[in-house]
Amino acid sequence: MNIRHLFYAGVSTVFLTASTQAAIKVTPVQGDGGPGFSLKPVPTPANNDAATSATFTLVDGTRDPNGGSLDVLHDGRVPSGEDEPAANFFFRSGTDGGRIQIDLGTATSVKQVNSYSWHGGTRGPQVYRLFASDGSGDGFQATPKKDTDPMSCGWKLVASVDTRPKEGDGGGQHAVSISDTDGPIGKFHYLLLDIAKTEPRDAFGNTFYSEIDVIDADGPAPTSNSVSDSKPILKTFEAANGQYQFTINATAAPDLAEWAETELRPVVQEWYPKIVAMLPSEGFRAATNVTLRFRNDMGGIPASASGAGVNMNSQWFRKELKREARGSVVHELVHVVQSYGRARRTNPDAIRTPGWLTEGIPDYIRWFLYEPQTKGAEITKRNLANARYDASYRVSGNFLDWLVRTHDKDIVRKINAAAREGNYSEKLWKDWTGKTVQELGVDWKKTHEQRLGADKPSAEAK
Ligand SMILES: [Zn+2]
Repeated sequence: MNIRHLFYAGVSTVFLTASTQAAIKVTPVQGDGGPGFSLKPVPTPANNDAATSATFTLVDGTRDPNGGSLDVLHDGRVPSGEDEPAANFFFRSGTDGGRIQIDLGTATSVKQVNSYSWHGGTRGPQVYRLFASDGSGDGFQATPKKDTDPMSCGWKLVASVDTRPKEGDGGGQHAVSISDTDGPIGKFHYLLLDIAKTEPRDAFGNTFYSEIDVIDADGPAPTSNSVSDSKPILKTFEAANGQYQFTINATAAPDLAEWAETELRPVVQEWYPKIVAMLPSEGFRAATNVTLRFRNDMGGIPASASGAGVNMNSQWFRKELKREARGSVVHELVHVVQSYGRARRTNPDAIRTPGWLTEGIPDYIRWFLYEPQTKGAEITKRNLANARYDASYRVSGNFLDWLVRTHDKDIVRKINAAAREGNYSEKLWKDWTGKTVQELGVDWKKTHEQRLGADKPSAEAK
């Protein structure tokens, strides 16, 4: 099994504790470890650790009512997907984190503290400080609020954790293990998590915490709820230029692993770098680690993209292996490269790109560049009446193809660059073509009407 280990520059990996010279080690892993959170070297979430029977108290901050209670943090269970609010604890949207105290009940020789989180976007990464205390010092305060420095009232700082990546929104699973290079971290009765939001501009920047484990050095060997009979099936590979790494996770659909390896892998290897090259913009670097995962919980949605991840609906793919499966992945890879969520973080005045364009660009690339031979986005007599430039998906893809051929071969690159920065404006069409987008839409439709001989009903084209 291959899991990416990303050691972020933002993580302080080493703290010296003055008394012992032992070094605290913070090991963060981001990736896709499947439903069991298999993200080595961080252990899988345990269901018999010292936190399982500990008392968790909300010291400061407000729980988001859409999420679970503090109980979900130490029940040994983790969510089965990236957007399961009720299986996570998180602080209320629009607030900045808070503090959680863990009362271990007795002085405990803490070997490791492991934290797990999972979300497709900015709520994935973890940002917190871990304090610990044996509760014995003079002036010890068991529940210091945010305006009180824990170190002023009997706590010591064990570690600072920040798993936010330098690029991208950090969506995916995050697992962090805090340990000591030299035996247990220390003997503690209480732990305090001082949790911050991950994203100052995003109201939804409070991490989806799935589980907190405290491993007792004198406790039983950790056991796990995770389904050990569904072994992760992960295929990792690189693009030809070595610049991009991909993981196909077929754990949820072992029967599709071979198809993914032989049929999907070459498409991803060839087309992801191509799409990146087609859609450049200043200062932008596309995600370098992309995970494609089969899922069984997507309902009627064939495929979706989230951060640097592509979700593939196993049931739908089984029926479409020889038809639309590969093309749908190309479409989703374009969303990964578009990275329009970035604008919310980099531009406080970001304009939301209209949905028809967000979907039209992937379908333009898919139907006109990746698989033009299938003619999947043609305007025909059958759909001519409904052909509007902003009808989204393949119809808007057709409009973009026409613009590229008749007005400006760089227009998709240019409009994408503006959209990525949150600078989309209808004025851009006029600047670049001399016409409003509505006028262009009329011209485009006229071209199709003439080609199809709208006045001569017998002249069905193609
Ligand atoms: Zn889409």
